[in-house]
Amino acid sequence: MSPTLYTPDRDELATVLAGEPRYRLDQLWEGLYTQLAAPADISNIPKQLRERLATHLPTSLTSVVRRENDNGDTVKYLWELHDGSRIETVLMVYPDRVTVCVSSQAGCAMACGFCATGQAGFTRQLTVGEIVEQVVMAARDARAMHRRLANVVFMGMGEPMANEGAVWGSVERLHGALGLSARHITISTVGLIPGIRTLTQRPLPVNLAVSLHAANDELRDELVPINKRYPIDDLMRACDDYLEAKGRRLSFEWAMIDGVNDRERDAAELATLCRRLRLAAHVNLIPLNPTPGYPTVGSSKARVAQFHTWLTDLGVNATVRRNRGTDIDAACGQLAAGQPVTLRRKPARD
Ligand code: SAH
Repeated sequence: MSPTLYTPDRDELATVLAGEPRYRLDQLWEGLYTQLAAPADISNIPKQLRERLATHLPTSLTSVVRRENDNGDTVKYLWELHDGSRIETVLMVYPDRVTVCVSSQAGCAMACGFCATGQAGFTRQLTVGEIVEQVVMAARDARAMHRRLANVVFMGMGEPMANEGAVWGSVERLHGALGLSARHITISTVGLIPGIRTLTQRPLPVNLAVSLHAANDELRDELVPINKRYPIDDLMRACDDYLEAKGRRLSFEWAMIDGVNDRERDAAELATLCRRLRLAAHVNLIPLNPTPGYPTVGSSKARVAQFHTWLTDLGVNATVRRNRGTDIDAACGQLAAGQPVTLRRKPARD
């Protein structure tokens, strides 16, 4: 695949600029990653060079739809890539922080039944440039709202640990060029052990989140099919080693499904699992969001609160994730790149 604007690192960009005065590299790098400017707007670079860049290093994302919720504090972007595949990005503006949720693959091969991306299947891996560009676009919008984007979560479409190389390349860029702190970058995985092991060897201590959803293999095999290959025991060992190496807290994500994983004994099993880790785990409870291909509904508000209390009483650190974006199909598990997710109304199609 030919490189796009946000693909090359600084050294590679220097090669592209061979023959230009040395300071051009600084101007371009600072224009792209500090000013967050589109190349055409980097005015201290000669027009001819800007045109040459646009030809040799085109951008990768074409906007298909940009939808905001009523307050404009959640923005969902639907992008088309050069080969026609589509991905989504979600910008979330909170009073105290701005977070972007990025996709790491077009589609996903993990086939978790309750997730809209999993229901749609896998298209292809994203490149470093395609991942970085999602963040730059969101950061540019945040800036227009006079806010600074400081948090990135790899919780959009795809399984980041099935595309570890490009994900890591993008993490380095976000850290090195956009100046994001590793502790503000979170990689979420369904539990691909080889990916977690590779990540353990990487230098930056990014946060690791594991989409657990079940604390016994029988139920997890059903909810998260890849569990058959990487069962809970092995997964916990890989997580534990990651935490030991990085000194970071682990998060478990738990999508609460009515009558499936929201019973008292599910809380007890989860608590036992959390206690096995040498370092602390934090549980994120996510009320299941509706998707077309999954019959079961999310736990009631009261049950989510009850489950939270059970966990807390067992000494587990847990929070209920604020649900953002359900009204624009931008919530956890609802990203399906243009395929309608909401059952109660038809979203506008382009
Ligand atoms: N593939 C990675 C990254 C996606 S993160 C992973 O699974 O971790 C998206 C998060 O939303 C995951 O925790 C996923 O399990 C969760 N999720 C998927 N479908 C959901 C749904 N319908 N409701 C709530 N959460 C869901």
